[in-house]
Amino acid sequence: MQFKLSEKIMNESRKIFPGGVNSPVRSFGSVGGTPLVFSHGKGKYLFDVDGNKFVDFCSSWGPLILGYSHPEVLKALSKQIKKSITFGAPTELELQLAEKIKSFVPEIDMLRFVNSGTEATMSALRVARAATGRNKFIKFEGCYHGHADAFLIKAGSGLSTFGISSSAGVPKGAVEDTIIVPYNDIAALEEVFAAHGKDIAAIIVEPVAANMGLVAPKNEFLNFLRDITHKHHSVLIFDEVMTGFRLARGGASGFYNVVPDMWIFGKIMGGGLPAAAYGGKESIMKNLAPLGRAYQAGTLSGNPLAMTAGLATLHTIEKLNVYEKLEEKGQILDRLVEKYLATFVEQGRVKYTRVASFFCFFFGVQKIPENYQEVTQADMHLFKKVYHAWLQNGIYLGPSGYEVGFLSYMHTENDLKKCVQVIKKQIKNAR
Ligand SMILES: *Cc1c(COP(=O)(O)O)cnc(C)c1O
Repeated sequence: MQFKLSEKIMNESRKIFPGGVNSPVRSFGSVGGTPLVFSHGKGKYLFDVDGNKFVDFCSSWGPLILGYSHPEVLKALSKQIKKSITFGAPTELELQLAEKIKSFVPEIDMLRFVNSGTEATMSALRVARAATGRNKFIKFEGCYHGHADAFLIKAGSGLSTFGISSSAGVPKGAVEDTIIVPYNDIAALEEVFAAHGKDIAAIIVEPVAANMGLVAPKNEFLNFLRDITHKHHSVLIFDEVMTGFRLARGGASGFYNVVPDMWIFGKIMGGGLPAAAYGGKESIMKNLAPLGRAYQAGTLSGNPLAMTAGLATLHTIEKLNVYEKLEEKGQILDRLVEKYLATFVEQGRVKYTRVASFFCFFFGVQKIPENYQEVTQADMHLFKKVYHAWLQNGIYLGPSGYEVGFLSYMHTENDLKKCVQVIKKQIKNAR
């Protein structure tokens, strides 16, 4: 496989974009080599500019649960594009998408659309602070909630990959109210609430942590978050940018049957266009301007193209019974891992974990990690080898060992088998 044209384009790009990219993890910094430059995608396939074809498990980092260029999404978009790309004024599409989202997650009273997950988490925190009149909040080590200043402490894939524990350019004041606690650590949370309970505006959590590899919540962890925030009148925010519309119809809150006070959505809900949302209880959301005094605005918020892509995607998810099909594929992957990797799993050469359509392999660990500290014990050297072997075998995952793999509606048993067999071969070679 040759990557000549990708290399040429990246060499030019490095002169104009820092690191040649518009988002750090795309630079292949943690896996080495030249980033692939893509030209088009169809279904489960991605094609790079050199004409190489890959089965894609990156899903544009999550949104493309239906695969690339889904005909229903394309049809809806081409119809809308003739009407207008933007108005900066209300459209019925916004109402339709909001009602559709509510039909998936009925506990949401009110919501607001924005353009990125970053904007949504930043704004949700502002509203939670306005609603409680408190400043402090709790964030878990290794969880990623976008790149707003207050969240940039030990913040998931991009930052951990690059070994930056905290970003430069963030003033001390911007993070002094951020309290970091290890994921899954109930005792640490009890301590923090005992010391600061009446000052804590919110807990923000990835209900399944999918930006430090894949770390599932332990039994009772999410229930504990629900109880302790109730007790201290703090706001529980589920950042479901990854898990929303993916784990189940009701996202992680539906999957685990724990109802937070606020939700953050992004990725799938924009169907591949820039759209995100935050919402929750009316008593909290009514603090938002123009009803209340917490300000947040957006020129392109609720953009008609993004609303259209989101609507078409959610509509198609319903029509195709996507969650059932994804679970079937997940179980096939479980069986393949058992069949091809069982010995290596036993020996601690690799551990495999899956939650619904997220999957992840950790190399060189004795048990499946339960927090960020344990995630960082994984063998990145072997991961890099596996990563490049995947590429050579026509398999594309997000270029970082701290990323999850995404099963899409389009994957077949053969795709999954290839993915697992590459791992087997690389572990054997590494002996
Ligand atoms: C991707 C992601 C974000 C940030 O969303 P952007 O649209 O990239 O700003 C926030 N939270 C989680 C859990 C994410 O996975």
